[in-house]
Amino acid sequence: MEGARPGIEPEGVERAVERLTARHEGQAERIRRGVEQAAARWWPEDGDVEAFVAFCEESFVAGPEEIAAAFRRLEALLEQIDGRIHEIRREVLTPIDVDTGEVSALDRLFADLDLAPHIDEDLFKTKVAFLALLNFPVHTLAERLEQGDGWDRATWARSRMMDRFAVRVPAAVAQEVTRASQAAEHYISGYNIRLDRLLGEQGERLFPEGLRLISHWGLRDELASHYVTPGGLARQQIIQKVMERIVRQEIPAAVIDNPALLWNPFTNEVRAAEEGAATPAGAGAREPDTRYAHLLGYFRAARQYDPYSPEAPTLVARRFERDRQMTVEEVEALLVSVLESQEVKDLGALIQERLGRPLEPFDLWYAGFKSRGSHSEELLDRTVRERFPTLEAFQAALPGTLEALGFSPERARWLASHIQVDPARGAGHALPALRREDKTHLRTRVPRGGMSYQGYNVALHELGHNVEEVFSLNGIDHWWLSGIPNNAFTEAMAFTFQHRDLELLGLQEPGGEAWHAEALGTLWNTYEISGVSLVDLRVWQWMYAHPDATPAALREAVLEIAREVWNRWFTPVFGVRDSELLAIYSHMIAYGLYLPDYAIGHVIAFQVACHLTPETFGAEIERMTRQGHVTPGVWMHGAVGGPVSADALLGASREALEAFTKVPV
Ligand SMILES: [Zn+2]
Repeated sequence: MEGARPGIEPEGVERAVERLTARHEGQAERIRRGVEQAAARWWPEDGDVEAFVAFCEESFVAGPEEIAAAFRRLEALLEQIDGRIHEIRREVLTPIDVDTGEVSALDRLFADLDLAPHIDEDLFKTKVAFLALLNFPVHTLAERLEQGDGWDRATWARSRMMDRFAVRVPAAVAQEVTRASQAAEHYISGYNIRLDRLLGEQGERLFPEGLRLISHWGLRDELASHYVTPGGLARQQIIQKVMERIVRQEIPAAVIDNPALLWNPFTNEVRAAEEGAATPAGAGAREPDTRYAHLLGYFRAARQYDPYSPEAPTLVARRFERDRQMTVEEVEALLVSVLESQEVKDLGALIQERLGRPLEPFDLWYAGFKSRGSHSEELLDRTVRERFPTLEAFQAALPGTLEALGFSPERARWLASHIQVDPARGAGHALPALRREDKTHLRTRVPRGGMSYQGYNVALHELGHNVEEVFSLNGIDHWWLSGIPNNAFTEAMAFTFQHRDLELLGLQEPGGEAWHAEALGTLWNTYEISGVSLVDLRVWQWMYAHPDATPAALREAVLEIAREVWNRWFTPVFGVRDSELLAIYSHMIAYGLYLPDYAIGHVIAFQVACHLTPETFGAEIERMTRQGHVTPGVWMHGAVGGPVSADALLGASREALEAFTKVPV
């Protein structure tokens, strides 16, 4: 399959173009583009060259009114089709996602029922997709950036519509991508480290019996928690050593998730945990680059997909230009603007002063700026429990909650009428509607006895998603423009709600010290994740430049890239060279190029938050979200009058740095 070029041969394309240009004057450019778009996705099973040419002749739409009518029909029907398929999917998943009692064997079987891929296939089989491809341009991001400023909303909607038909992938290729990503996900989700079996530099055991944590999330969070524990430094250093052994693949394969072995990550020695038992032969053998073999497997599957996505022919292009709607250059410049900022250098100095020692690489995860406020967990829980004793109480209070956030009574009622609250099995999530007749769902947990503060905090985050979803679906002019530019924007909107949790409980005034702590905590986080994101990006660029690399060669490349990024942007702040810690993120192995969304999200959240005041919150959220799914640049200009930029985060951090250095904490 690799390297295959799908589609109609150039002679067939020329023939169709000639026939159409002979019949329709003055449309040569439109005709060529449409025919080429359809030809690139036409497979033998769709018919021979004759059939292709005949289809083009029959299906080309020439007059502006007929084009507008075709667009309206596609918009109305796809809203119903995608919307109803989404509702069916929600129904079959309800027993899994919503607390409806015991999950039956039948429920589990139904959960695998997903009709969406069949709809995509059938849109091509019925040739609906080909009619769209023949008559409407599939735009690249470059074209949108170049021409988008002059487009009206209908042109934007037509452009967005064609994203739906831009990719046609054979089922076998799609399955291979799923298989490779699931294999990588399975690998990282089983990668547990027995901290209770680690030996310190003097052979001592530092962690309690039973402590088993997943790499990298669990290791990182455990490390961050030890800033406040006596003797925490030794634990942080040993976790850092474990991470280094993982990225270098020097970790003995046998110690992964194995309570029977003791491991000293400093010397790399392994021995049996049971007193007097013999150490099994080969127990010290290193993990044989499995980490990098999975990443290569994911890359090779993505490459098979490339020929079927002609406007975004690499995974890098798909993640950045198609999903994020930002160029690699734009995102890199944004990350570097944080990495090279004076604020990061000053913040590093402040953290060093607070720690009273030189920074070590693991201080990437310094967590001293989390502001939990002065209220006890007990008071917070009690306040929330009294307000929301049941799920029904939370649903009934929605209009009031929205009014307290700053929406007008009329808007609050309208929003609440589109939001359905369900009892979640997990921590909670928001599930959008895709059809305007449907409702968006807020899934949250209210245990017997009432909602907890933690649950309320998460529910407000989800409510932010719901409000954005209602405005950008039910309050939008064109269905194809429903939504928001990318994931990072969705999260940014949700955080603006979540951050007002204490204020809504009447326990905190907006602004002040909590806001300063928030700015500095976010800046340090953004600094770290910007470095990690650049490593992720460069590794993918390296794989595309070296498609036949072995896992060992990839390992060396990853380590070199991690050291380069570290030495350039972290050594000036940390004073340490050649750390490889930035390569530890599991996302890099199984969720190719997802990481930059976190950095972009932090930046956008501050841009939006700095623009909002309690007085304007409701009206401004509505105005921003009703712009819908345009490019991030166009959206941000409309929202705050400027491009996506780290200036708001850096400005808030500058103020916070001044406040913190004036009043020692
Ligand atoms: Zn979220």
